[in-house]
Amino acid sequence: MPTIKATASNIRKAAAALKAGGVVAFPTETVYGLGADGLDPRACARIFEIKGRPRFDPLILHECSAARGRRLFARVPAAAGKLMRKFWPGPLTLVLPKSKAVPDIVTSGLKTVAVRVPSGRHALALIRAAGRPVAAPSANRFGRLSPVTAAHVARQLGDGPDIILDGGKTPIGVESTIITFEGGRPVLLRPGGLPLEEIERVAGPAAAPAGRGKKPLAPGCLKKHYAPQARLKIVDPGAAPKPSRKAAYLAFSRRPAGRWAAVKVLSRKGDLREAAANLFKALHRLEGSGAALIYAEKVPPHGLGRAIMDRLRRAAA
Ligand code: AMP
Ligand code: MG
Repeated sequence: MPTIKATASNIRKAAAALKAGGVVAFPTETVYGLGADGLDPRACARIFEIKGRPRFDPLILHECSAARGRRLFARVPAAAGKLMRKFWPGPLTLVLPKSKAVPDIVTSGLKTVAVRVPSGRHALALIRAAGRPVAAPSANRFGRLSPVTAAHVARQLGDGPDIILDGGKTPIGVESTIITFEGGRPVLLRPGGLPLEEIERVAGPAAAPAGRGKKPLAPGCLKKHYAPQARLKIVDPGAAPKPSRKAAYLAFSRRPAGRWAAVKVLSRKGDLREAAANLFKALHRLEGSGAALIYAEKVPPHGLGRAIMDRLRRAAA
């Protein structure tokens, strides 16, 4: 069985596996990652195989300090430096011109690389012990729901990873926010665990991505992604559909009336942070109910609501 508790000695074991070219699933503060030595192209290739991830979808490199993260970039605009100082470690990924050390398989041949310093203590300890950047996309099958527990990882990837480190449920529950820079201005590539409002307060107002319609800026940001196996339909909280024992319902803050195959409420307080933290676990549960259809309520589109709506829209696509 590849799942072991994230104790200090098991983290050392996992770091040794990474150094030997192995693949380790581990908890971060956002979701579980599927990690390999980010400077070893063969180890990174195993991530793509285990996930069934297309090679055009680049990986995020994880480092254990801002100073080490920064070294993976060839150039850092002043405003990006400010973001690193303010938000690393944390759920912010920066995409900037790559240093020569970064292998092509990590960036899918792009001249830019995505880097983040996670704040999860098990993740930091693992990366520090491995002594190298760790490439780690979410530890799920490509396109499917992201894992927020070790059991979610095991269910989708089985014994694909050499080790799954179990550190309990991940606190933030959605992936990192991805930011790049164009002409000195921040551009949002993917909403995530750090609200855009906080980023704009430090780096100035975000610009809309240029080059729309041509090649997508963030190649992995596919329209259909983060999807449960049931069909997902987004609904207005004010206009709920007729209750059905054949459908499941994902509510934002209030339980819907009537009988459903399964119901999950993301946050009774209507708190978006709590809702994001519960999102994937709730979707895994509703998927497990066997309902062929999941209704998901819209949430307010600010703060972490932006990340939640992004995941719901792509699950519904
Ligand atoms: P994840 O699957 O959560 O590891 O997220 C990786 C995502 O980061 C990819 O799917 C891309 O959308 C984005 N990404 C990584 N590297 C780059 C890059 N060099 N340029 C643009 N987007 C990137
Ligand atoms: Mg992912």
